[in-house]
Amino acid sequence: MTTAVDGAARAKLDAVRAKYRAEREKRLRPDGVGQYRALSGTFEDFDRDPYADPAFTRAPVTEDVEVAIIGAGIGGLMAAAKLVQQGVTDLRIIDKAGDFGGTWYWNRYPGAACDIESYVYMPMLDETGYVPTEKYAKAPEIFAHCQRIGTQFGLYDKALFQTLVQDVRWSDDDGRWTISTSRGDTLRARFLIVAGGILHKAKLPGIPGVETFRGKSFHTSRWDYGYTGGSPTERMDRLVDKRVALIGTGATSIQVVPRLAETAQHLYVVQRTPSTVGVRANRPTDPEWAGTLQPGWQKARMENFTQTVSGRQPEVDMVDDGFTAIFGRNPNALGISTEAEELSDLEAMEAVRARVDTIITDPETAEALKPWYNQMCKRPCFHDDYLPAFNRPNVTLVDTGGKGVERITEDAVVVDGVSYPVDCIVYGSGFEVGSGYKSRLGFEIHGRDGIALTDAWADGPATLHGMLARGFPNLMIFDQLQGGIAINFAHLMTELADHASWLIAHCVKEGIGTIEPTAEAQEAWFQTLLSKLGAQAMFFAQCTPGYFNAEGSTAMSPAAMRSVPYFGPLPDFLGVLHDWRNAPALEGVELHPITRKGE
Ligand code: NDP
Repeated sequence: MTTAVDGAARAKLDAVRAKYRAEREKRLRPDGVGQYRALSGTFEDFDRDPYADPAFTRAPVTEDVEVAIIGAGIGGLMAAAKLVQQGVTDLRIIDKAGDFGGTWYWNRYPGAACDIESYVYMPMLDETGYVPTEKYAKAPEIFAHCQRIGTQFGLYDKALFQTLVQDVRWSDDDGRWTISTSRGDTLRARFLIVAGGILHKAKLPGIPGVETFRGKSFHTSRWDYGYTGGSPTERMDRLVDKRVALIGTGATSIQVVPRLAETAQHLYVVQRTPSTVGVRANRPTDPEWAGTLQPGWQKARMENFTQTVSGRQPEVDMVDDGFTAIFGRNPNALGISTEAEELSDLEAMEAVRARVDTIITDPETAEALKPWYNQMCKRPCFHDDYLPAFNRPNVTLVDTGGKGVERITEDAVVVDGVSYPVDCIVYGSGFEVGSGYKSRLGFEIHGRDGIALTDAWADGPATLHGMLARGFPNLMIFDQLQGGIAINFAHLMTELADHASWLIAHCVKEGIGTIEPTAEAQEAWFQTLLSKLGAQAMFFAQCTPGYFNAEGSTAMSPAAMRSVPYFGPLPDFLGVLHDWRNAPALEGVELHPITRKGE
């Protein structure tokens, strides 16, 4: 990493700061996170599950279980598997999807693949004895692995799929949660884990006229292969006579573009902000290496990756890829606060921009594809076929100069007064992040005395570790509100599952009927969060708008302030959880024994 900052370097920094500021300002909008549209009402059809059998029916289930888990994605799946490992098998898992997998159930778009190394992302490789076929496995392999975990831990019999949770209520009378669903189920459960997903609720851009388009349109997380033909791995032959617009150039679209480009008659990639696109260098798993893996290898590798991308610089960088290189060069890439760090980031971004020049043949397109912000302002992308796709005659980059699409008409996408007639619009516009917790979940949680979580948290969340909430006994939340943040979500989810399953098993073993945090412990946790705000929050505040920084908002309402995650390094957050559960007594929680008959 560069350490000395001389006059010439400072001048360079001044110039790039001004450029970054100007690019950020171009993109700031008064409506901020309000610019997006939920997939409801007029846009309800965008949310339809294209993969599940619409004719599926089953009899309503009425039963009493020890644990109910809402969400069968990586978080819920890990929680269930780990509960089984702990000997707690009396459980139910509910999900609106038709199978396990969460994000890997929904995201079947062409080209979908793990954007971090699959050996550290795909959970429970040790337990299942499975080794991914490639360093960056494709989505179908990850989805199949989620199914493998479901099968191995006997979870299919416990799952209620294609089932929407409608209402969740706690009762002190019987010390139980009651969960009502769209299929007429009534489940009573002592413990409730809500693993509703972090980037799970797809959103549309609030572009005027979206609803007027007469052609085909869908979101990337609801890919319509019936229309495009092909499959996640096969050519989409029905697009050969179709003009397609892809809106968005985030981590999803980077993976989609090469696949659309190979068959669409013409592809318009509509860009508001370019992503950084580094070298991917995917490769098949070396069977010799796989043969050397000893029990415990994955945990060690996951922890090593998380240490590395937390700037901890362990002696060996096991994953050794573009992601870890960012932090190898600049351990503080997520909280740049010195000129030396700024310069190091600038050098990395110059390399990203130079890569564009080496690949793109048209100079104007090359300029438009260059990102101007600090590298970690957006999720860094790595792909070897994305940039070359723009050299194809059937692909046009429609750069909106940071302004986004102006309008959508019956048959076209309009950018800066120019109309691009298309047959199909694919929205790679991402997922809700800044909306309320209830909006993201799609149902309300009613705690003691019927109080809604939305009301209890009107002034912002109040939790212990982002997981337990006063007034909501035995509720365990897997989210980032007041919780940890991760580059490898699967690692965080695995650790949250460890924590929740341990806690539940502990309560069962000790005859504890309810657990909930004290108000003092929640306040102390909030003070801890405030103490960690520091450099990382400042870093994001100056970033180009996006879901990492509430679309560039710098004004924080008191409620938003209370929603902040634990901004310290993830290993520290995980250490807090670990130390708390290994202390002689569980601190900051009220525990009540099982007292009622039949409990
Ligand atoms: P993003 O939110 O990252 O991207 C949305 C895109 O839509 C952005 O390029 C955005 O532009 C653009 N956009 C929004 N509104 C408009 C508009 N009005 N006009 C034009 N463009 C617009 O969503 P993604 O689905 O790409 O990625 C979300 C996250 O999912 C990733 O950050 C990553 O965490 C995860 N992911 C993980 C993968 C994995 O393998 N683990 C793979 C893919 C995604 P702008 O940037 O200007 O806001």
